[in-house]
Amino acid sequence: MTVSEQEKTGLGNYFIANYPPFSYWKPSFVPDALTALNTPPQPGTPLGLYLHIPFCRKRCKFCYFRVYTDKNARDVETYLGAITKEIELLSQMPCMGGRHLDYVYFGGGTPSYLSASQLQSLMERVQAILPWDQTREVAFECEPGTLQLHKLETLKKLGVTRLSLGIENFDDHILETNGRAHLSAEIYRAFGWAREVGFDQINIDLISGMVGETWDNWRSCVRKTIELAPESVTVYQMELPYNTRISKELTVLGQESAPQELIADWPTKRAWVAYAFAEFQKAGYDISSAYTVVKDKSKTQFIYRDALWRGADMFGTGVASFGHVNGVHIQNVDTWEQYVEKLNNNELPLGRAFPTNDRQRLIREMILQLKTGRLDTQYFQQKFHVDVTREFAEKYKQLESEGWLHVKPAAIELTTDGYLQIDRHLPVFFDSEHRSDRYT
Ligand code: SF4
Repeated sequence: MTVSEQEKTGLGNYFIANYPPFSYWKPSFVPDALTALNTPPQPGTPLGLYLHIPFCRKRCKFCYFRVYTDKNARDVETYLGAITKEIELLSQMPCMGGRHLDYVYFGGGTPSYLSASQLQSLMERVQAILPWDQTREVAFECEPGTLQLHKLETLKKLGVTRLSLGIENFDDHILETNGRAHLSAEIYRAFGWAREVGFDQINIDLISGMVGETWDNWRSCVRKTIELAPESVTVYQMELPYNTRISKELTVLGQESAPQELIADWPTKRAWVAYAFAEFQKAGYDISSAYTVVKDKSKTQFIYRDALWRGADMFGTGVASFGHVNGVHIQNVDTWEQYVEKLNNNELPLGRAFPTNDRQRLIREMILQLKTGRLDTQYFQQKFHVDVTREFAEKYKQLESEGWLHVKPAAIELTTDGYLQIDRHLPVFFDSEHRSDRYT
């Protein structure tokens, strides 16, 4: 493959979300997941709850999540009953160890697809099982076109602190071309209501490199985002995992990457992110990770991300959801039928798992924390009794010589170029048995 071929947006994952990669998680490890759930927690380990709400109005062309666009109100009720049952079963396991929930995350899919009354009923049922009175953050993902003022008021009343708006782009033609369900007018309406209701934190998601993106439009998206002045902005770079609609269309055509006129190549997408970060910094934002800028670093936290990247436990509930308990990665079964059936039978819907060892946990936290742009070496010394700058000396030396990071006495810090492409460099830290072409 030539260099210019490599720079095209090819099929496959770019974003690294976990280690060891998902492709190494197996159904044969489910007994390890059960052992982890039946074991008291390590003292001092925070516990979070993730709820996967797998409904969307339309399937975006670049989506690779387990979502459904054809379920009716009865199906939704069935699902909410099942996920509540799952949370109840988990709350009775020894791994709870009397802990309270440190953070809660409603992700999807589209959690805001649910009606205000469905959300009220779900959240009240969940809180009756696992109270949120000591929970530091309740994050909730929204699609702008599904919001109404009264739904946002309900969310605020029920304790949501961080609202994340999946805006992605401000141009109606680009939104439609990429299969998004919302249009720009809905963005402004939703944002205005969210401000009126007074959430502690509003995050806006953007994607660099949607089909049809141009420099002029991207500049306008960044300007419009700054005008809205959210507390944080997350900018993803468009990738093409194998099971998206775009990837399937390209596969049928026998292509392994998207032509430049369809999706911009990686250097262009990075240039767009670099431009966005620079503009946000000029407007007073600080960089808080490879994807995120925040208005005020001292006030704007993202507890879900930071807890998870520091090895917290998390119950991942819902169909195909991912979690981590007592050192074991756990994923639920990934079909609606299996998920609902197992919970109808009062059985946890465990699908596959991976029991990690100390070294794998060290690598996992190290690569995830590198994504924040700065890694504190003392943290790893204290937690894992390892000097990461010595243990991975050759790899850090190589990345430093290529200009992606600086190794300092107490920290490793990414350069600006490093920020923009950190995920592609993280696999150098993977143990050889966990390096394969396919990440998922
Ligand atoms: S809104 Fe999100 S989860 Fe739903 S189809 Fe689009 S990308 Fe997928």
